[in-house]
Amino acid sequence: MGQLAGPTDPTADAHWEHTHPRKGFFTDTSICIGCKACEVACKEWNHNPQDGNLELLGSSYDNTGALGASTWRHVAFIEQGQERIAEARESGRALVNLGMPRIGPPADAAPDLSEADRTPPDTADFRWLMSSDVCKHCTHAGCLDVCPTGALFRTEFGTVVVQDDVCNGCGTCVAGCPFGVIERRSDGTVAVAAEREEQHAGHPAVPNVGVAQKCTLCYDRLLADETPACAKACPTTSIKFGDHDDMVETAKERVATLHAQGMTEARLYGANELDGVGGTGSVFLLLDEPEVYGLPPDPRVPTADLPQMYRRAGMAVAGMVAAAALAFWRGRA
Ligand code: SF4
Ligand code: SF4
Ligand code: SF4
Repeated sequence: MGQLAGPTDPTADAHWEHTHPRKGFFTDTSICIGCKACEVACKEWNHNPQDGNLELLGSSYDNTGALGASTWRHVAFIEQGQERIAEARESGRALVNLGMPRIGPPADAAPDLSEADRTPPDTADFRWLMSSDVCKHCTHAGCLDVCPTGALFRTEFGTVVVQDDVCNGCGTCVAGCPFGVIERRSDGTVAVAAEREEQHAGHPAVPNVGVAQKCTLCYDRLLADETPACAKACPTTSIKFGDHDDMVETAKERVATLHAQGMTEARLYGANELDGVGGTGSVFLLLDEPEVYGLPPDPRVPTADLPQMYRRAGMAVAGMVAAAALAFWRGRA
């Protein structure tokens, strides 16, 4: 096992001999138009079944609601009024003043924005935030760390993938993911391997009832040197795919550009390798606080606390042994 927390190279930690550069996404929500082509392309490529009956949720123009075992990309539609937009702009400005997150490329490569017009644009009366969410392919992936069967594994591209035929449907990974991404495709029961084969045979479009499912970052396509289906289908390039380091740099440059245009609400999510999951493979540019998009503000991999837990358990055991020894010694005295 590699490091339990902090910055690291997940592929090297997984002991791959022939590694590729770590792959990832940069999802720029500022140019998403909510067309859901990414959602559809993902379902089509992966033969994932429909979620629900396509009726709108009632709270917005959304009909899927969240990521799930059959929805590996989910496009959120969040409606906001003028007051909330102004608050988002203010909270973004406060982040920059605190120096978090760091924006812009390193000083030696920074574009000259000193002459940029930083007058904030007029605050709109209304806007939709549209954001295509996906598995974060975390540097320290809680789902993978807690899986008891080894069904989840780290690929040579640094991504996290479920092996359907190894997963026993126990659901431990569901509790291990700090983002609520991975889910069992089931009605709450576990299907054994033989039953799954039967399901495959009868309903090829509804595979693997019972096993945990999530985005594979199109592992099959990466092996064929192809772009993931969702990124390929996105008409606005809101979903960018490439080497993880390049994605983070592009994301930082984009935040700097938006800030220079007065859009101080722009901020990054997942680009900080010092966060509770060591940074994520899928990086996002958001236009409001993470909670607005249903994302945890401070995700933390469960295993990050293991050393401290072991230390405390060790101290408790030592205390009990000392107490027992003292009682024994007093009994003899
Ligand atoms: S977001 Fe959740 S499911 Fe995806 S790699 Fe991280 S812990 Fe696993
Ligand atoms: S990378 Fe592939 S599996 Fe993941 S969301 Fe995109 S299309 Fe779906
Ligand atoms: S395909 Fe691109 S523009 Fe359309 S919803 Fe998905 S991320 Fe947004």
